Amino acid sequence: MLYAQVVLPLAQPMYTFSLDEELAVGVGDAVVVQFGSSRYYTGIVWSISDTRPDIPRLKPILKRLYATPLVRPHAQRLWEWAADYYMCSVGEVMRMALPSLAKPSATSLAEIDERAITAPMERYVALAEELRDEERLHAYVEKHQRRAPRRTATLDKIAALAIERGAEDGYVPRRLVDAGTTHIAALRSKRLIVEKLRPREMGTNDAQRDFLLPTLSAAQQQTLRTIKEGHNAGKVCLLHGITGSGKTEIYIHLMAEALSAGKDVMMLVPEIAITTQLIERLEHIFEGRTTIYHSRLTPLRRGQSYLRLAASTGGELIVGVRSALFLPMNNPGLIIVDEEHDPSYKQSDMQPRYNGRDMAVVLGNIYGANVVLGSATPSLESYINAMSGKYCYAQLNERWGDGALPEVVISDTLRAVKRGERKLHFNIEMLHAINDSLTAGEQVILFQNRRGYAPYIQCRTCGYSPRCPHCNVTLTQHKATSRMECHYCGYSTERPNVCPNCETQDMATMGFGTEKVEEEIARLYPEANVERLDGDSATSERSYREIVGRFERGESDILVGTQIVTKGFDFGGVTTVGILNADNLLSSPDFRASERAYQLMMQVAGRAGRRSNNSRVVIQTSQPNHPIIKYVVAGDYHAMARAELAEREAFGYPPYSHLVRLTLHCRDYEVLRYAAHYTANMMRSKFGSRVMGPVAATREMLRGEYYAEIALKIESGASMKRARTLLNEVVEALRTNKEYKAVTLNVDVDAW
Ligand code: ADP
Ligand code: ZN
Repeated sequence: MLYAQVVLPLAQPMYTFSLDEELAVGVGDAVVVQFGSSRYYTGIVWSISDTRPDIPRLKPILKRLYATPLVRPHAQRLWEWAADYYMCSVGEVMRMALPSLAKPSATSLAEIDERAITAPMERYVALAEELRDEERLHAYVEKHQRRAPRRTATLDKIAALAIERGAEDGYVPRRLVDAGTTHIAALRSKRLIVEKLRPREMGTNDAQRDFLLPTLSAAQQQTLRTIKEGHNAGKVCLLHGITGSGKTEIYIHLMAEALSAGKDVMMLVPEIAITTQLIERLEHIFEGRTTIYHSRLTPLRRGQSYLRLAASTGGELIVGVRSALFLPMNNPGLIIVDEEHDPSYKQSDMQPRYNGRDMAVVLGNIYGANVVLGSATPSLESYINAMSGKYCYAQLNERWGDGALPEVVISDTLRAVKRGERKLHFNIEMLHAINDSLTAGEQVILFQNRRGYAPYIQCRTCGYSPRCPHCNVTLTQHKATSRMECHYCGYSTERPNVCPNCETQDMATMGFGTEKVEEEIARLYPEANVERLDGDSATSERSYREIVGRFERGESDILVGTQIVTKGFDFGGVTTVGILNADNLLSSPDFRASERAYQLMMQVAGRAGRRSNNSRVVIQTSQPNHPIIKYVVAGDYHAMARAELAEREAFGYPPYSHLVRLTLHCRDYEVLRYAAHYTANMMRSKFGSRVMGPVAATREMLRGEYYAEIALKIESGASMKRARTLLNEVVEALRTNKEYKAVTLNVDVDAW
C-alpha cells in the first residue's frame, strides 16, 4: 500500500490518503477522494510515500482523473511558493489554478468526473468555388475594386492566406482575415465566400521553422542586444520603452528565438480584450502555436488549453492574463510581462492575492527562464530594481517611424470657468483641439475614468444623494438603463425624480461619466460619429471588437472611454487625446496615486500621433501646477520617479517596504471594532510601530458588511519569512477566538 498527500481545493492543509497501487496514480495527478462524511473532492496528489503515517483510519483515493498529470514538479514549486508568500493554503492556489477541469466538490462520487474535452472548433473561410481560380479572382477584383474596395481587399487577403498556408482546399482561419463579423456575413450572403466550422489546427512544433519577423530599427536592435546581454548575465530585464517605440517588435524577436529552440514562451498582458491587435499579429507570425488564455473564455475552452498544454512537449506560445501563469508548461524559455506596471496584475479579491508580475519573476527563477518586464511607465518597484543593478535596464527612447510624441496642453478648468471659456464639460482648448482634428479628418480619443452618466445625483433643496444600502457609496446614474447603480456590488434602483428625503422635485445630476461625455460631445459635434468604450458598452469581447474595429477603420471619429482606451491601442489616425478630468486621478488617497496618475496620463497620451507629427494631448485640470502634471508635460519619467521615490522612502512605503494589509469584515459593527483592536494590539506586541490602524476601510461598508483595515510595513531588508511566521500566529489567534467567530480576516501581502 502507498500513501499520498493530497491537496484539496480548500483553505486547509494537505491530508493523507491511502493509495492502491492498482490505480497507477502518480504525483501531480488529479484524483477523487472522500473528505468529511458526505463530500467528495477533486484533489491533486502532491507526494507519495510507502511509510504509513501515524493516523488511525485512512480513507482511500477513489479514482484518478485524466491520463496526464495536471501539475508538474516545477508548477508544484510555484504553487508552494505562492501559498507560502501570500499566506494561504496550497488548496487555495489549486482552486484558482485549475480551470474547472473537474468539479471541485460534490455530494456523490459519480458527480465528479473528467470533463468531456473535445478539440476546439474554429470558423474557417474560403473563397467561393468560382473565385478559387486565380484568373477569375483577378478579373472579379479588377471589376469591383473601385466600388467595393473593402470587399475585394478581403477576397485578396483570403486568397493570399490560403497560398501562404498551403491550404489545399482554400480554407483559412477566419480570425486571420482581419475583417468584422458583419463584413464576413455580407460576403457570405453575396456568395463570394463560404464558411465552415472545423477543429482548430494547433500547428506543428517544428523548431526549425523561420518566422517572418519585423526588421528592427537601429535603436530597437541596440535595445534587443542590451536585453540579451542581461539575460546572459542571468538577470531579469526591464524594457523601458516609450509608447509607440515598438516594444512588441522586440518581444517578437525574443519569442522567435525561444520558440525556435523548442522552448515555451509566456506573454502576460493586463487584459485580453485590449490585445486584439497584438494577438492578430502574433498569430500571424507564430500561427498554430498560440494559446490565448483569459477568464472570459468558457470553462471548456480553458480546460482544453490546460489539457493540451499539460501534454505538450514544448514550443508553445501562451498569451494570457495573470492566471495564465498557472498553466502547465514543459520547458519555458521566456516570460514577458507587458505593461508590467498595470494594477490588474494584482489579484486583490481572493487568495492567493498574488501579483502576476512578481510571480512571473519567481517562475523565471524556478525554470531558469528569461524574464522581460516591459512598460512605457514602469512601476517604481521594477524601476528601483533596474537602477540598483539587480535587473538589467534596457531603454528605448524614440518612437518607431515618423510618429512624434504629442504636444501636451494643460487647460486650467477654474480659469476657463471664470472667463466663460467652457461649454458643458469642455474647456476652450479642448474644443479647439477637437475641432482641429475633425476638420483635418483625423480622430479623437476622450478619456474620463468614470463610467455611467453621473457619479451621483443630489437634491437641490436638501442636499440628499441616494446611496447604496449595502455599500454606503453614492449610486451612479445610468441614462441608457435609466437606473441608479452601485459600482461596488451591482445593486440598482430606479432614478428618483422626487427627492426621497424632502419630496421636492429637484434632483440634479452631479459630475460626469463617459455616458454624459458621449451625449455632450454628440451635441457639440452633430456631424461627427461618436462611440463609447467602457464596461457598459463593451460587455462582451465581441462588442468590444466591434467598437474598436469601427474606430480603427475610421468609421467613427471620436471615441469616449474609461481606462480601457488608455491601454495598448495602436491607431494611426488619432491626433487629439483629451483627459477630461485629471483631478480625479490626482486626488485619490492611496499612496500610489501620483504614480498611477502619471502612468495613466502618459498611457492615454501615448495613443496620440502614432503616425503623425502634429498631435496633442489636452489635460483639463483645476490643479495646473500639480507636480505630476508638470512631469507629464515634460514627459519626464525619471524626474517623476525620483520625486516619488523620495517620498516613499520618507514614509517607508513600497518599494522601500513590503506592505501587508489585513482586512476584517463582519455584519456586526461592534464585534468588528473589538476584533480589529484585538488584532492590532496583538500585532503591535510583535511588530511594534510597523503597525498602522485599525482604520475603517476605504470602502467602510460593502454588501452589507462593515470593513476595517490594519496595515503592516515590513522595511526592505527585514525578514519577510519571520514576519509571515508572526503574522500567522496573529491570524490563528483571531480565528480560534470564539468571541470573533463572525469576523472574517483576509491577509494581503504586497497590497495595492
Ligand atoms: P509599443 O508597444 O512600444 O507602444 P508598438 O510595438 O505597438 O509600440 O509599436 C508601435 C507601432 O510601430 C506599431 O504599429 C508597430 O507595428 C510599429 N513598429 C514598431 N517597430 C516596428 C518595426 N521594427 N517594423 C515595423 N513596424 C514597427
Ligand atoms: Zn453596493
